[in-house]
This record gives sequence, C-alpha cells and structure tokens, in this order.
Amino acid sequence: MTSPPARRARLSIRAETVKGILTRSSGYLRTVCSHSLQPYRGCPLGRSLCGVGCYVQHNRWLLRGHAWGSFLAPRSNAAAVYSRQAARERRWARRARGGFAVFLSSACEPFPPQEQRFGATCAVLEAMLGEPPDLLIVQTHSPSVTRHRDLLVRLAGRCELRVHISVESDRARLHPLPPPASAPARRLAAAARLRAAGIETVITVSPLLPIEDPEAFFARISEVADAVVLDHFIGGDGSPNGARTRRTPLLAAMAAVDPQSIDLAYRDRMEAVAARYLPGRVGISIEGFAGRYQ
Ligand code: SF4
Repeated sequence: MTSPPARRARLSIRAETVKGILTRSSGYLRTVCSHSLQPYRGCPLGRSLCGVGCYVQHNRWLLRGHAWGSFLAPRSNAAAVYSRQAARERRWARRARGGFAVFLSSACEPFPPQEQRFGATCAVLEAMLGEPPDLLIVQTHSPSVTRHRDLLVRLAGRCELRVHISVESDRARLHPLPPPASAPARRLAAAARLRAAGIETVITVSPLLPIEDPEAFFARISEVADAVVLDHFIGGDGSPNGARTRRTPLLAAMAAVDPQSIDLAYRDRMEAVAARYLPGRVGISIEGFAGRYQ
C-alpha cells in the first residue's frame, strides 16, 4: 500500500504542444463517447482527495516518471489542433461510432486553478462554437466551471451538452486522506447555477465514498441536478474487482468510516435511496456516464 500523496510539494508547470488533441476512445470509454480530449496533461488536484484513488495515476505514458499531482502541462495549441482535426474526426465518428461525442476530460481536470492563467480549456470550448461536436460531455471536479457558464450556454445551442460534476460524498473529509480540492457543498451549488442557466447537469458520485446522510445527500442532488451517476470503485476503476483502488490508501480510509462501503452491495443500497429522489434519473457506472439512466 502506498502513502497518501504529499500535499505541499511544488507543482511543476510547463506548457507543451500536441500533434493531436482528439483521441479516439477505446476500452470502457468507447460506449460513452467517440473521443476524449485533454487540454492539460497532469492534474494539480492529484494531491487532493480525488487524486488518492484517481485512475489516471496508473497511466505511465501520461506520468512520464513524475508523481501524480506534481506536474501540469497546459496544451497551448489545444484549440488550434481541435479546429484542424474536428471536421475529419466528425466524419469518422459519425460513420464508425454513430456520432461525434467528445468527453472533456477523462485524464485531467479541465478547470484547474491554472485555467485562469492558461485558458487551454476555454480556448477549446470557444473553438467548439465553430466546429461543434454532436455531443459534448464536460466532466469536472471544480466549482469554477461556473465561470464559463455563458460560454457553455452558447455551446448548448450548438450541440447536445451535459456537464458532469463529481461529488463523491457529503463528507467534508475522509481522514487521514488529504481534503478535497473544494467542499462538496460548493460543487453542488455550482451544479445548481448551471442547471438554473438551462444546462443539463449531472452529479457523478465517482468513486462512491461513504455517505454520512444518504437521504439528505440525494435529496440535495435532486434539487440541483438533472440526474445522478453512482460509480463504485469495484467495476468502475477499470481493473478486476477494483484491484487498482485496493492498492491505494483510499480503501482503508473508506473501510475505517464504513466497512460496508467497500463492497458493491453498498452501491446498490445507495442506488435505492437515490432512486426515491431521482426516479428514472439514476445511472450506474459506465451506463450512467453514457447518459443511460434507470
Ligand atoms: S480532478 Fe480528476 S483527473 Fe484530477 S486528480 Fe481528481 S479525479 Fe484525477
């Protein structure tokens, strides 16, 4: 078992350019989208709670020998490359995948604090106004997604748009792990703002962590979001029986709070509560990320 990530180590930031920005999806993402798009390589939230179990930390190609959470590479030409690739990838996706569906982002936070300085994601969103995908799924852990609300509203007029905001639990802390980068209540408030602007907004409880008050949590989600996705690390982390997550400190921290939360039956219990507050609007794991609810 590894130690919790260091929280105060310096973040190394170095911009880079890429030859391609639209990656044709494979593996579990294939049923969700035709392409993923990462405006950044690396993620400064890797040192916060979500980074402890983050699936991306196992991707050696992305890490290139660096610790997860220690580096950030804004892709300075992301928007220009998107504009260059979009028409060809749209033709391919409509032919081969039934639509040009972009997931932004599967391997980084699209709105890290450094987005204000580098604007890599915002530039891509602007480029999408000119070359819209058929479907855009914005996946974020950050309440600062609301800074781009007006741009997202304009994009919703050009393509089908869903904003997924990750809120793994109602708990402010999961000791002894690092705190989340933002409080759950702030992310839920961000969802409310987007939804009030007419943007389809989904709360992704991913990975599902022990919830202190499930009734109140899902009641609140039903007020601020159009749907909820429950994604347990078993079946959700891309490894048999959650083996990847079992190698991280997340498992012991979950078990210390609620030993039942590390079994898949916990997800089923939470699903039953969620379904009372969001009937027909509960998605499970990859089906939920794909927008298929029950
Ligand atoms: S924000 Fe997303 S990509 Fe970044 S560490 Fe958290 S889970 Fe991983």
